[in-house]
Amino acid sequence: MNEYEVHVVDAHIHIDGYKQAAVAELEASLNHPYLDYVIVVSMNLASCLHTEQWANRYPGKVLPAYGFHPEQALPSADEQEGLLAWLELHKESMIAIGEVGLPYYMREESQKRGDSFDRLPYIELLELFVERAAAWDLPIVLHAVYDDAPIVVDLLERYSVRRAHFHWFKGDEKTISRMADNGYFISFTPDIHYEDEIRALARQYPVEQVMTETDGPWPFEGAYTGRHTMPIMAYDVAIEWAALQGMDILEASRLLRANAQRCYGV
Ligand SMILES: [Zn+2]
Repeated sequence: MNEYEVHVVDAHIHIDGYKQAAVAELEASLNHPYLDYVIVVSMNLASCLHTEQWANRYPGKVLPAYGFHPEQALPSADEQEGLLAWLELHKESMIAIGEVGLPYYMREESQKRGDSFDRLPYIELLELFVERAAAWDLPIVLHAVYDDAPIVVDLLERYSVRRAHFHWFKGDEKTISRMADNGYFISFTPDIHYEDEIRALARQYPVEQVMTETDGPWPFEGAYTGRHTMPIMAYDVAIEWAALQGMDILEASRLLRANAQRCYGV
């Protein structure tokens, strides 16, 4: 915490995605006085090691989540075993399991090419993560959009996982109300400034289940064109979410900060 009144969290960032040339800017942003912490997600086992190094360098500021990003080829049996062993070993030190989920964009691409795509092994892999989130009472960070989301909600319900964070969520009305009723969290990125679908969701989703994120280094458009995505842009997200809710920024940032506390326990 700092002496400033504004406290923001970047609830989803990929630090291993930053090029060396952007690291100094990234560290300056991590040290911004408004920024309480970032949740750093991992893509795979190698990425988990990288995330851990950053967490050791910035204790309390960089909070590590470990998982396997679904938008890539499935892990080999060895890699899967290594990753599950890593999770077991780090279940006390990680803030959450993530990023995990289902490969919507990869499936869409392969269908566009006319190739078949088997989602089942991805669902089976995800189930291993959901099972662990339940057993270890950890939050789970999900990449699950559109028609993948109801499958993920089914899994979460089956294992009674309560602290689920669907980052940068997009989906249908029915799934949105199911997620809201189950108490799941969603988070908004800087595209809350210009994407109508996202702005509509921001007006609609329960205010106590919303967080801010950047998904950095993912690049944004509009006023962000050509800029490196930095953790403190979570503050811009808070400002726009506040405007959409008709709240002042202090009230909104207090609420968003409290939501992150309820989801992640910090
Ligand atoms: Zn991500």
